[in-house]
Amino acid sequence: MIDNSRQIARQESPCQEEELADEMHVRKEFIDYDARREPRTKRFCVRCQKDLDPGKPVRRVYVTGDTEAIHPDDFGRYLPSDGDFGWLLIGNDCARILGMEWTLPENAA
Ligand SMILES: [Zn+2]
Repeated sequence: MIDNSRQIARQESPCQEEELADEMHVRKEFIDYDARREPRTKRFCVRCQKDLDPGKPVRRVYVTGDTEAIHPDDFGRYLPSDGDFGWLLIGNDCARILGMEWTLPENAA
């Protein structure tokens, strides 16, 4: 059975509905990150903190201040906030775990 309790909890805030009207159709997905590791370089994966090979293209993902990924297809409707982390790199393995559709190629315009 699929646990969708998190999704249900998100829908239970009718008082915020008007305020969030513009963002209602923006899909978000929590990045279940592991912050235990300390990256040694500035090029590291947002999810597992592993350093990334500079010679190997990876993916990137837009991350909110709540560590949620914004679906790239919905980004046009999303209102960026000051607390957002912005576009961060994510390793190919972690991008696959999160779901490739949540990420863009690192070098895409
Ligand atoms: Zn990773």
